[in-house]
Amino acid sequence: MIVLDKFSIGVGDRFARQAKAQLQACIFAGKAGVEVIPVWNKSNREHTIIGSEPASVRAAADAAVAQLGWKLPYFCDADHINLSTVDRFLPACDFFTIDVADFIGIAADPVSVDQFVKRHTELLGAIPLHGSDGTIEIAPALLRGTAAKFLFAIQEAGKIYRRIEEAKGKDSFVAEISMDETDSAQTPAELLILLAAIADEAIPIQTIAPKFSGRFNKGVDYVGDAAQFGRELALDMAALGHAVRTYGLPSNLKLSIHSGSDKFSIYPAIHAAMRQFSAGVHLKTAGTTWLEEVIGLAEAGGDGLALAKALYAEAFAHAEELSAPYATVIDIDPAKLPAPREVDHWASSQFTGALRHNPKCSSYNPSFRQLLHVGFKVAAKQGNRFLDLLDANREVVARNVAENLSARHIVPVFLGRSAS
Ligand SMILES: [Zn+2]
Repeated sequence: MIVLDKFSIGVGDRFARQAKAQLQACIFAGKAGVEVIPVWNKSNREHTIIGSEPASVRAAADAAVAQLGWKLPYFCDADHINLSTVDRFLPACDFFTIDVADFIGIAADPVSVDQFVKRHTELLGAIPLHGSDGTIEIAPALLRGTAAKFLFAIQEAGKIYRRIEEAKGKDSFVAEISMDETDSAQTPAELLILLAAIADEAIPIQTIAPKFSGRFNKGVDYVGDAAQFGRELALDMAALGHAVRTYGLPSNLKLSIHSGSDKFSIYPAIHAAMRQFSAGVHLKTAGTTWLEEVIGLAEAGGDGLALAKALYAEAFAHAEELSAPYATVIDIDPAKLPAPREVDHWASSQFTGALRHNPKCSSYNPSFRQLLHVGFKVAAKQGNRFLDLLDANREVVARNVAENLSARHIVPVFLGRSAS
């Protein structure tokens, strides 16, 4: 069976130019004493907006691995796929994030809900969770209610899983189930019930991505109670351990944290929970590599800075249209967006200071950053002008990409040190 190791990081490389710089960050982690496996993820939505194919992600990853002599595993993740989008990812990917969010709340047939409730009386009452001070309490109404809300979605996940298995062969890929893109967070008790249902459906998931409480906006920090997040995360990890022992799910099953990138204020809690349970984590960071590309161009000055400003001006002009698909995961304050004619006068350091995610920097502007984050379509429209400038400024761009990933993400989450 293809196994995803204990520590892994999901990275997005929208324009397929930075796989090598991203892999450098994992090599740095290895030198610092922790093996972090890279997983290149790109969703159907990203491919559609950019006009790319999954094969390009695979080609970029393979080339980076060959160039840098990476000997550990690595994966290409078909991120947030469902039955209608999975097919184009089948040849290129060996990691599939089966997204069932759209099916949560659709009523399963009452017979299967009844059967599930009868089959799983072991879930009722107080379940002591190994390694945790807490217990999970499940009353009959919660068991039935959770089954009614989620069973259809898990059955759908089974269909998607079997479609992939048929095409790729058993045990030849990593399966994840994600339900982060939904309205309400799942509690640790719900997660445990869901895991029983996933085991019944015989889906050997190695990662699961629940929705956590708090806001996970794209490319900016966590909004919510970090201590509360830490308590929930610990119970979630304990629930996973219990499910592995009780239901025979793969022993390396771990949480996949769809972070939307840059959740710096909860990184210490993630590291603490990993230590408490000797647990692994898959940290999906997704799309901020594209912002590091813009930062690199701005830092380069000249044509690079000019293009960075032009990208912002265009994103500003189409802010509403660009934000719409991401409405639930961004909080842009239009009053905080500088006018493009003002940005035109900015020096490199002003542009990078506003865009780079350094919460301690007084010129850091989260609205500016979020707008550019969702504005990658604007760069895609520039076509070769953007790509040629990335190539011409390869070094400065790669340095920003690699430093961001290692110093701001890998070091605090997997090494437990504060970000430099
Ligand atoms: Zn997600």
